[in-house]
Amino acid sequence: MAGTRTFSIIKPDATERNLTGAVNKVIEDGGLRIVAQRRIQMTQVQAERFYGVHSERPFFGELVEFMTSGPVVVQVLEGENAVARYRDIMGATNPAEAADGTIRKLFAKSIGENSAHGSDSDENAELEIAQFFSAADIVG
Ligand code: GDP
Repeated sequence: MAGTRTFSIIKPDATERNLTGAVNKVIEDGGLRIVAQRRIQMTQVQAERFYGVHSERPFFGELVEFMTSGPVVVQVLEGENAVARYRDIMGATNPAEAADGTIRKLFAKSIGENSAHGSDSDENAELEIAQFFSAADIVG
């Protein structure tokens, strides 16, 4: 494996505007390789499990509703320091604070509808990847 892996989701606000390819271009131009990818409709159960750490946050209901509002593209990304690199490529959670050229600066509509998810640690990346992919789905 070339480097490490992270888990990514292209969120419903981006798929709705037909931006999957545009987001993927930013990912690839940023030096990460898409080694697994699938377009799915998340169920409420999947979204609640995925964002379980945020279950006490005031925006949890809104977040689950948003993530199940349309198709998402789940991905495994590979490269050097994949977790940190993808956080850089995505930009800050709030697009108003995201750096130029980042996915969220380019495409996000708001702090909630912010176009992309990326794991925040190697440990979480492994757990999140396992929630959506088996080893045979990932071809590096
Ligand atoms: P991330 O790691 O940058 O995605 O940010 P967090 O882990 O803090 O939040 C997870 C996701 O919850 C974000 O990407 C947003 O989609 C959503 N979120 C965070 N803060 C807010 C908020 O204040 N309002 C709403 N509606 N959604 C939020």
